[in-house]
Amino acid sequence: MHKVISTGVALAVVVAVAGGASVASADHAWGPYHWGRTANPFTVKLGDNVSGTWDAVLRTASADWTLSSVLDTQIVPGNNTRSPKTCRPKAGQGEVCNAKYGKNGWLGIASIWVSGDHITQGTVKLNDTYFSTATYNTSAWRNLVMCQEVGHIFGLNHQDEAFGNANLGTCMDYTSDPASNQHPNAHDYEMLETIYAHLDTTTTLSKAFASSRMPDINVEDRGQWGREIRRSADGRASLFERDLGHGRKVFTHVFWAEETHADHQ
Ligand SMILES: [Zn+2]
Ligand SMILES: [Zn+2]
Repeated sequence: MHKVISTGVALAVVVAVAGGASVASADHAWGPYHWGRTANPFTVKLGDNVSGTWDAVLRTASADWTLSSVLDTQIVPGNNTRSPKTCRPKAGQGEVCNAKYGKNGWLGIASIWVSGDHITQGTVKLNDTYFSTATYNTSAWRNLVMCQEVGHIFGLNHQDEAFGNANLGTCMDYTSDPASNQHPNAHDYEMLETIYAHLDTTTTLSKAFASSRMPDINVEDRGQWGREIRRSADGRASLFERDLGHGRKVFTHVFWAEETHADHQ
């Protein structure tokens, strides 16, 4: 797989060098995509379509990301509470859903719709088919995947995609042991400050944003994700891109589940 080179990558390298941070985090930003807004801090609404098991997990992720100096999150009533499995996006905000999406291979996905460089809406889907298995039925796994998928909604990428190495202490780090990777770390907040250092003349954090009217596609269906533009070396993380024309795209970050024997019993 070729590496995606972008302005975000260049900025991330500068930050990594200046901050003395690990080179492994150099591709933490994967593109120029960010919410359009006219002031910082701005508020990203997270539509709550999650069931009881996930409520505290969503609150934790929301509180964690709100520690950022550039953005706040606010949990609001979801648009999909009657059909979390569908989890349609709502213009100008995020929608967070959990359901038994089936043995489709993914533990969690985050999709962001962009118009030009601006994120206009996003969805997070958490697959209870895997979270009800022995491997993933833990609060640590729920926290890591929720925190990571919500982080993608802000335009963040993973800090590290290797499962076998030492944890970086962030939910944006892939791991086989989520214990110490359940929350963002300082570098995630630095990346958000980099991504959101400039201000825009328009906001996309509103359903009134006309250009956010996107073709209605169902991202639950893998066939709707478009082409895979990146896959981690061990195959556990993928990024898909679907071009909708007129500068509009949907990106889908996929956290692949580890399918174990226990899952098939
Ligand atoms: Zn901008
Ligand atoms: Zn991810």
